Amino acid sequence: MNCYIHVPFCAAKCGYCAFYSEAGAGDELIDAYLDRLEQELYFAFGICETVYVGGGTPTFLDCTRLERLCELIYRRLQIDGNTELSIEANPETLTAEKVALLRRYFTRISVGVQSFDAESRKRIGRRCPQEKLLDALELVRAAKFPHWNCDLIYSLPEQTAAMWEQDLRTAAALGVDHISCYALTPEENSRLGATFDEDDERETEFYQLAEEVLSEYGIHRYEISNYARSGGECRHNLNVWRGGLLQGYGPAAAGFDGFYRQIEVESLTKWLKGTAPERDEIPLSERLNEIFAVNLRTTAGWNAAAWKQVKFCDSWEDRLKIAGKLQKSFPEYLQISSGSIKLSPEGLLFWNTIAQEMIYGD
Ligand code: SF4
Repeated sequence: MNCYIHVPFCAAKCGYCAFYSEAGAGDELIDAYLDRLEQELYFAFGICETVYVGGGTPTFLDCTRLERLCELIYRRLQIDGNTELSIEANPETLTAEKVALLRRYFTRISVGVQSFDAESRKRIGRRCPQEKLLDALELVRAAKFPHWNCDLIYSLPEQTAAMWEQDLRTAAALGVDHISCYALTPEENSRLGATFDEDDERETEFYQLAEEVLSEYGIHRYEISNYARSGGECRHNLNVWRGGLLQGYGPAAAGFDGFYRQIEVESLTKWLKGTAPERDEIPLSERLNEIFAVNLRTTAGWNAAAWKQVKFCDSWEDRLKIAGKLQKSFPEYLQISSGSIKLSPEGLLFWNTIAQEMIYGD
């Protein structure tokens, strides 16, 4: 079982962000959230292979409340020595005390750097001063988490290839074992969304540069936006991409029971009142195609044994047929053998098109 807990609070909204979060919430609201979360976690079941605490900004909570959240997780969820416990952190909210606290409870920390260039961060509405960023990274490095990730964004306004390369090298030199690199794609309902023009060519150039530079440090792409040293891959994400079972807690959190996806309401007020989650009901064949397409984002793709682990899966032969049919339209993008189906490096760049065709094509 995999668990996701959404902490819907941020100091302020970043210019590109459309994730659900409440900006600048007070202690009373955060306490109400923790009270409700405690009740919700009574329903948790199964041993957790992974727990992922994301947001929002989980580290927006002060030390007392953050400790309450950590204790809740350990008290209500079934965690054993094998459980991967990840938490997202924003550098401007990290203090020595918080980092020491998180180190006691989590095996993995993901720090939202986005760019090491202060001007670039400012342009997308990130607020962390340079000195604070460097101090926070030093605290995390010194705490020696078993695994740590640095989130970067590329294709930023006025960012050159040389600046992007510098960001990649700085992140790799920190000693992280995981780097996530996302192209800036402001959502329509974000502040930057209305003003932003995407540049596909520049995005592709920066995407390719990421693999080129990070591989020099032994950090390799294992999913379209994710790079890791061997053994540093995020198990939570790998499980979710492979259609693993997921329990989601907190407003806007998604869950998956092997057939239905459930999305909690995107409103803290409604969630606190107990509004039921929405259920995404689609036919089984469409669900299987969706799971199959999502994991094609990984460089490893599928093999017969991994597909057999998917709840309600059809046969591997069926998958070979579906992939084979698709390969007729996209011969360069799919690599198929009797035991494996994956996208070629070029195919990963066209994952969206392939996924659309797989899920909605005839
Ligand atoms: S990008 Fe992260 S920190 Fe910024 S508003 Fe969104 S969730 Fe909050």
